[in-house]
Amino acid sequence: MLTDIDPQAHGPFGEPMTEAVRACVHCGFCLAACPTYGELGQEADTPRGRIVLMKEVLEGNLELEAALPHLDQCLGCLACEPACPSGVRYRDLISPFRALAQEKRRIGPLEKLRRRMVSATLPHPARFRAAATMAKLAAPVRTALPAKMRAMLELLPSSLPAAQTLAEVNPARGTRRARVALLAGCAQQVLDPDINAATIAVLTRNGVEVVVPKGQGCCGALSWHVGDREAAMGFARQNLAAFPDDVDAIVTNAAGCGSGMHEYPLILKGTADEDAARTFAPRVCDVSVFLDRLGDLEEVPDSGETVRVAYHDACHLSNGQGVRAEPRRLLKRIPGLELVEIRHGHLCCGSAGTYNIDQPDIAASLGRKKAEAVVATGAPVVASGNIGCTTQLQAHLLRLGADVAVRHTVQILRDGYRGGAA
Ligand code: SF4
Ligand code: SF4
Repeated sequence: MLTDIDPQAHGPFGEPMTEAVRACVHCGFCLAACPTYGELGQEADTPRGRIVLMKEVLEGNLELEAALPHLDQCLGCLACEPACPSGVRYRDLISPFRALAQEKRRIGPLEKLRRRMVSATLPHPARFRAAATMAKLAAPVRTALPAKMRAMLELLPSSLPAAQTLAEVNPARGTRRARVALLAGCAQQVLDPDINAATIAVLTRNGVEVVVPKGQGCCGALSWHVGDREAAMGFARQNLAAFPDDVDAIVTNAAGCGSGMHEYPLILKGTADEDAARTFAPRVCDVSVFLDRLGDLEEVPDSGETVRVAYHDACHLSNGQGVRAEPRRLLKRIPGLELVEIRHGHLCCGSAGTYNIDQPDIAASLGRKKAEAVVATGAPVVASGNIGCTTQLQAHLLRLGADVAVRHTVQILRDGYRGGAA
């Protein structure tokens, strides 16, 4: 029974957190959906268990340090939300709780340094590229890093693709049907810049002008999901200022970024920018959603080839934004492409932002299981809509020795336009 989560004591997050806690009737329907319950098998590592832990801490009945190990193990995958018959908005609880906990948690100097290194590099493409290149090249640098950082580096490809410069304005082909602004993403620009090139190619081919605002920054999701609200607010404000009003949509092609931008009203709750964030967030949409809504897309030529493609639902697309049908519909437009589902498709691949760094063992176990499930489909190609997922899948498929190509949905569509089935 909820007693009193004091909105005054917990600032602007008090009300949404109270609502989320109040809505939970402890039915347990979410347990089977939760990947960490599957991995760890403890009530404290279920959505229901974590809600109770957060409630007890917020009400002052439990020490924060007792709850943190279980809350840190939460992937933030939001698989618990669609599984919940009571409509608990778990996202309104876990990230705000982490933001509150961040100020109070006790961490040692090494852990502090690791966190600083992550937040100073990952959200900044140039720094991330320099750090990844240096660490990949120099074995002594690698061995000097904490074990958790090494786990992350092992996911990186053996060589990084060349950096690509995106034009600020990419004109529509033929008659202009729409104009959008694209978020280029941070890790994506380093790990697979071709995803942005494919996004621009598919959109412009279908009559959409794509602008890439120069002043944009990281979406802020990485910071927000580890409880660094100050940094998340900084990125959110930067993007509120950078993205123009005179576009039909703000398009994202990384599920985590899109989901993070939809959370700007919560990130900026109680600040002077909350109203601007409320106007901004509904204008953000994933590229698959934008293309699906645009409709009347150019036909993909029939290459005469047939290919099976497995589709992996990125959590922050399927659970975070409710986007499941649109990417599948886009892929099915390609003649000769047979779409297949992955068993236990609702389970996270273990990527989840910085989870590979923070919880390397659980992340590796989930990554291996997802790669095995992909292999079991027999498909030579797997599609997804999130750079974290594609990086995780690539690394774990490689470890299994599986010859499966990992592609973003828009890369497959772009290649289809060029005359290849996938
Ligand atoms: S399914 Fe929803 S209401 Fe039931 S225990 Fe889980 S979060 Fe609570
Ligand atoms: S966000 Fe994912 S890992 Fe966390 S409680 Fe919900 S289902 Fe479990």
